Amino acid sequence: MQPLVGMDLASLREALGPDQPAFRAKQIYEAIYRQQASDPIQISTLPLEMRRDLAGRHSIGLPEIAKVYQSADGTRRYLLRLEDGRTVETVLMPEGERDTICISTQVGCPVDCKFCMTALLGLDRSLTAGEIVGQVLLVARDNQLRRDGGRLNIVMMGQGEPLLNLPNVVKATRILLDPAGFALSPRRITVSTAGIVPKIAELGAEPVRPKLAVSLNASTEETRRDLMPITRKYPLKDLMAACKAYPLRPWEKLTFEYVLLAGVNDSDADARRVVKLLANLNCKVNLIALNPGPEIPFKTPSPERVDSFQRIVRRSLPCFVRKPRGLDIYAACGQLKSSAP
Ligand code: SAH
Repeated sequence: MQPLVGMDLASLREALGPDQPAFRAKQIYEAIYRQQASDPIQISTLPLEMRRDLAGRHSIGLPEIAKVYQSADGTRRYLLRLEDGRTVETVLMPEGERDTICISTQVGCPVDCKFCMTALLGLDRSLTAGEIVGQVLLVARDNQLRRDGGRLNIVMMGQGEPLLNLPNVVKATRILLDPAGFALSPRRITVSTAGIVPKIAELGAEPVRPKLAVSLNASTEETRRDLMPITRKYPLKDLMAACKAYPLRPWEKLTFEYVLLAGVNDSDADARRVVKLLANLNCKVNLIALNPGPEIPFKTPSPERVDSFQRIVRRSLPCFVRKPRGLDIYAACGQLKSSAP
């Protein structure tokens, strides 16, 4: 059975064949992404015979819930089973009137960051556009999330390096932002990259795209190279040049994420170097104190250290400290490794 989720209008038209009028594809498209039908047989805008025929050949194709872990802070981590039996994770973080869904773009991750548990999985495979969109549809349905009034945010910050799966990330984003599809505002989707320099320009050239966050994580080339081996291929100065050249929309700022590791990259001097590096960019900084894990050879800095770092950066740039969510269920940044508890 071929999944419908992930198909755009053009591929739906093709799947229906030349005998069907174009509006049929539109009806199916809206049923998948707007009404979020769970079975083709429910698409009541279609004649019954057509629904039966469609249901015989296609499923909606959402991932299956293998397990849900519930955190004391309200965060929910979904372990999802894909069509081929592989598993991947999606995290829902409710906060007041706002919900954020953190989705994965690959099974595992090929970027070998030394502080991240997903790195230990290695890369299994990239997700299809349907598997990326499917995570959002599934979690939205399972929690009856509303998406009006900017309540729902999507961050592509789960397993994987999104810019190493750019065609599927872009295709999924188009569906999520399409007013006839899932209809999110482009301000509500952010993609995060470890810094795949040539792909940053490629993303910038896309007319429909998410906001961009860049994982900086160090203030010098040497430290960054030690923490994120990928930077050997894409040095910090090239990364900064790509960020400088990135075509921001009028309402947009770049985000830089910075994981603070005690005694490694969290000194006041580091903070001053971060300010210098980012001086000419329209950006904000999100600090993340390390979320520790059994196989991670780093320590979390004290709250006072984080505070001091933030105060220095904040003098020059907007700078926030990201609150860890779902630490008790291995749902926080850098903790996704497809496993218990
Ligand atoms: N590969 C992409 C998407 C992952 S986003 C990227 O690197 O940006 C995950 C964010 O969590 C990144 O900013 C990463 O630097 C951060 N992170 C990874 N491991 C972490 C950990 N153990 N504690 C805190 N943040 C971590």
